[in-house]
Amino acid sequence: MQKDQLFTRRRALLAGAAAVGAVGTTGLLLSGPGQSAHVRHAAPAPGPQARPAPNSSVYRLQPLTGDGPPRVAPARPPVRREPILRMSGRGRHMLLTFDDGPDPEYTPLILDTLALYDVRATFFVCGGMAERSPHLLSRMADEGHVVGNHTWSHPLLTQLRRAQIRSEMERTCEVIEEAYGERPRWFRAPYGAWNRAVFQLGSELDMEPLAWTVDSLDWTDPGTSAIVDTVEHGAAPGVVVLSHDAGGYDRMQTVKALRRYLPQLLDDGYHLTVPRRASV
Ligand code: ZN
Repeated sequence: MQKDQLFTRRRALLAGAAAVGAVGTTGLLLSGPGQSAHVRHAAPAPGPQARPAPNSSVYRLQPLTGDGPPRVAPARPPVRREPILRMSGRGRHMLLTFDDGPDPEYTPLILDTLALYDVRATFFVCGGMAERSPHLLSRMADEGHVVGNHTWSHPLLTQLRRAQIRSEMERTCEVIEEAYGERPRWFRAPYGAWNRAVFQLGSELDMEPLAWTVDSLDWTDPGTSAIVDTVEHGAAPGVVVLSHDAGGYDRMQTVKALRRYLPQLLDDGYHLTVPRRASV
């Protein structure tokens, strides 16, 4: 389809820009259970009780009248100049991320594979897709996965006015909150095309910008073995892997590749985990 071809061309053009932007940026994520006293709670465990209850003791400590110390508003993340590209922290941790879904055909297959190996991943969903398959976001919540904001309609944000960018991000936050049960804490710009307005609006909406370290290039339809090779050769502590569970193509290559590289990464001693914010 012509639209898909345009999509591919844009991605090809922007992939280069994203790669250039990747140079020199440090990772700012904490990873691994118990690795930092700043992490207030770990990622939810799978199961229906997964969504963490509010910590009531925190609220009780806050003054209700003006006599106490000033009430501290929740800290927003800083306005960054570059997205986060990799995880910091000790250990052989890696992050698997899947963009552009959820897709009713491919996303359940990816979730099945992750469940088989008891692994959690991050899904950067588009609001328009999430609205059509809210049950998949509900399943992601139940199974302990993280859902991030990938805008409503996957536009090139750098070509939009600020109000349009805000609308793309806000609407997606709302549909995620409705279906997943929590507002997203992370966002990713389509095509890796970031600008100052995107970073500012993300901060205002309490989301951190997460890009990636290794692009699996699954969107180029390179064949299952090529995707496996790209991921396995790119594997290293702190690496964030980009894949796609939707986006206009047959994603069976992505599904089949995951079934091959995931057990290999685990055999190699990697812990596949989800992003955690330093202060939440
Ligand atoms: Zn995307």
